[in-house]
Amino acid sequence: MKRIYFDHSATTPVDNEVAALMMEYMTEKFGNPSSIHSFGREVKKSVDEARQQLASLLNANSNEIFFTSGGTEADNLALKGLAFANRKKGNHIITTCIEHHAILHTCDYLEKNGFTVTYLPVDENAMVRLEDVKKAITDKTILISVMFANNEVGTIQPIKEIGQLAREKGIYFHTDAVQAVGNYPIDVKEYNIDLLTLSAHKFHGPKGIGALYIRRGVRIDAVQHGGGQERSLRAGTENVPGIVGLGKAAEIAQQDMTKKIARISTLRDKLIKGLMEKVPDIKLNGHPTQRMPGSVNFSFLYVEGESLLLNLDLKGIAASSGSACTSGSLDPSHVLLAMGLTHEVAHGSLRLTLGRGNTEEDVEYCLTVLPEIVGRLRSMSPLSASSKMSDSNPCSICKH
Ligand SMILES: *Cc1c(COP(=O)(O)O)cnc(C)c1O
Repeated sequence: MKRIYFDHSATTPVDNEVAALMMEYMTEKFGNPSSIHSFGREVKKSVDEARQQLASLLNANSNEIFFTSGGTEADNLALKGLAFANRKKGNHIITTCIEHHAILHTCDYLEKNGFTVTYLPVDENAMVRLEDVKKAITDKTILISVMFANNEVGTIQPIKEIGQLAREKGIYFHTDAVQAVGNYPIDVKEYNIDLLTLSAHKFHGPKGIGALYIRRGVRIDAVQHGGGQERSLRAGTENVPGIVGLGKAAEIAQQDMTKKIARISTLRDKLIKGLMEKVPDIKLNGHPTQRMPGSVNFSFLYVEGESLLLNLDLKGIAASSGSACTSGSLDPSHVLLAMGLTHEVAHGSLRLTLGRGNTEEDVEYCLTVLPEIVGRLRSMSPLSASSKMSDSNPCSICKH
């Protein structure tokens, strides 16, 4: 059966060139970068080159790049490291309601440890309002953390403006840019970013490797203690194959960026337009223009996202839904709820994220299969139109 991958926000396939390079660093070039001998020196040089390749993608300097085990660790290091290092200056952190759990759960932890956190709301397009950021700032605010692009609905935030505001107020600005790095142009200097999180597996690099950009002069505490690797900010023998893979993926991303964005956003728009034409009673989630090139998210009224997902999977299409049924919870996405969707509408949401390997044929196949699935599910749906649209009744799916 045909298999189509429309879940690039979850992960992406490793580029062949990246995989081949990594293999070399698992076999012949297996040294420890801390070793003085030639095996060590050889790989230390490669780690430094990868740091340079990544820095170049962000318009950073290579000594501002710190490798971690991925996006989650970099988010933890940024928030905890900055918070604990600046405790004497203040204990207030500003973030948003639509962050990834790597940010939200780290903020929970910080709240249990003497910090206060303001969670900014978003508008109906999942966009943070600059006014709300301004209003939330107090004389105790030490950090603002706003994601670059949302992983569920693809909305790109006004990062440059928020960064400028933070800079003027002398507050550190962190952005979780895991969805954006390698898929969208980012310049840390132009955007006034102090700390930035990225992860290789979201742009055709390997899983289990990421990095934190820390602007020169910004001091943070280490979270993991041990050897002196990564200038003592992240102890532990370097994941050399991962690091060289990340560097190569960054280099390829930088070369391909403009063409890739043009091609993928054309496919995205074709999919959005086609679904709007073919399926009645659907709602596009996310910003109409400020959205990631590959990001499509719709709510299909009167059906459950989970059912859509399973039926698409039977037809070979891999997508994702807005509720977290797989983790044993029926609660709909915190992002869709923050955008003001009712539980019922949020439950009918489906995320299709396009990437480098997708073709026009993939989109056409989806435009044939998906409307048919929606029609079939709706014809047997127990969810009546009246119960579906009501705000006051408890949700018939999660009972909230
Ligand atoms: C995937 C993702 C993460 C987590 O990155 P990992 O490398 O998988 O730990 C964090 N934030 C966002 C926005 C993501 O999309």
